[in-house]
Amino acid sequence: MGFEKFGRKSFTSATKTAKFVDFLMEGKIMGTICKKCGMKYFPPRADCANCFSSEMDWFEMPKRGKLETFTVAYYAPYGFEMDCPYSMGVVDYGDNLKLFARISKNIKQDELRTDMEVTVKPVQYEDGQIAYEIEKA
Ligand SMILES: [Zn+2]
Repeated sequence: MGFEKFGRKSFTSATKTAKFVDFLMEGKIMGTICKKCGMKYFPPRADCANCFSSEMDWFEMPKRGKLETFTVAYYAPYGFEMDCPYSMGVVDYGDNLKLFARISKNIKQDELRTDMEVTVKPVQYEDGQIAYEIEKA
């Protein structure tokens, strides 16, 4: 599957890491890990920023992390106007591995707390776009 299906609004159709979308369709949130130095990346990268190797492998992101920070958007950029208000956050998995994503509407805004245990799940929106969202653990 091409990358144009990814994201609430996709601005990119081609990428060296398009397989990420296939994994999402299988229910897996995948990052890349450098075969040479072991550096992990999310979002996935095709080339290592640490040692410049292009020998990368896929790995599945941990199932649980902690919500490091979050914010609520009441005004949205192009393509996201209909979704307001929505919240976004950063999940910290430790070992310098973090993930930025929208937070599921299943978590009410007044329930959001930094350090709360969360998980990240693939979602498909009504228009067919695929992404991932932060969910209750
Ligand atoms: Zn490397």
